[in-house]
Amino acid sequence: MYHVFASPLRYTQGPGATRDLGKEITGLGICGPACIIAGRSAREQLAEIWEASFASEGLTYHVHNFGGECSRTEIALGRAAAELSAAKVIVAAGGGKAIDTARAIAAELALPCVVCPTIASTDSPCSALSVIYTDAGVMDSMRLFAHNPALILVDSLIIAKAPLRLLVAGMGDALSTWFEARACMRSGAQNLRGGVATRASLAIAELCWKILVDDGTAAVDAMKSGTIPPALERIIETNTLLSGLGFESAGLAAAHAIHNGLTIAPEVKSFYHGEKVAFGTLAQLVLEQAPTDEIQQVLEFCSSVGLPVSLNEIGLGSASPDLILQIAERSVIASESIHNMPFPVTAKMVAQAIHDASRIGSEWRQKLGQSS
Ligand SMILES: [Zn+2]
Repeated sequence: MYHVFASPLRYTQGPGATRDLGKEITGLGICGPACIIAGRSAREQLAEIWEASFASEGLTYHVHNFGGECSRTEIALGRAAAELSAAKVIVAAGGGKAIDTARAIAAELALPCVVCPTIASTDSPCSALSVIYTDAGVMDSMRLFAHNPALILVDSLIIAKAPLRLLVAGMGDALSTWFEARACMRSGAQNLRGGVATRASLAIAELCWKILVDDGTAAVDAMKSGTIPPALERIIETNTLLSGLGFESAGLAAAHAIHNGLTIAPEVKSFYHGEKVAFGTLAQLVLEQAPTDEIQQVLEFCSSVGLPVSLNEIGLGSASPDLILQIAERSVIASESIHNMPFPVTAKMVAQAIHDASRIGSEWRQKLGQSS
């Protein structure tokens, strides 16, 4: 099997970067018209800046109002709007679902995709995949595309204005990246681009973990005080670029599979992807019998930034052993990345790991004098 690394063509990040969106697009040799797929909040924050930025480059554009769900219906509506405006580039502005929708439209029309995330809550912006839901919001399928986005443009001023909990959730998603990459490295599992990891993707995944530990709490403080110091810029880069490259090119393992299992429980609906992934990471470490020191480091990190460490903290405090077993069974279905672990994994093992991780997390909280 080949070593494969995939990435966007260009990544640009900084305060006020939206002002240069037009220049960044033409700089890649991409011409208009552009079709911008954007939700309400992105339009409210960015519409005026788009006008000036596109005008300065002589680019025309059309804004398509995103309806909120990355479903086949929304993709078809956006595609029709892009075709009507004879778009030569699809621009996504907003959160994960707007981005996934725009990415699918761009792939169907074989156009370049430009991604402008307005939050840093997951590591999906740089990737070449979209998660498709039904109109009712139930996960339907995952689509892998031939191309990563042409450009990721992250305006840290906009990210810093979003709720703190979203940035913290992004840190939860980034937390899993190194531990899942390491598991894939040990097993020789395939990454999401049909090869095995390069040294580059492993180094990037490991750097995620290092930056989270070094800068996580400073980034939280910065969000609270409304400032954008280098530590916050590094965390935005970690959540968006490093974790994105890391997961896609080094591979996923138990943490995300356990996350997917957790989503069968309606109780976890109000928790963000990254919050559930953080607990999934803890469960993976228990499952693989990671050293106690390492588990403590992860607990320390989670407590310092406000990520959940027990079932109670993701709404499953009163979950029955039967529900945990059902979650574990969903985590080990044949298509799940849990089979990238370097040993065979059964539902029983996962259920045990979930219970043990939750107990260890609760005990950790008690030791700190925090309730769990
Ligand atoms: Zn994730």
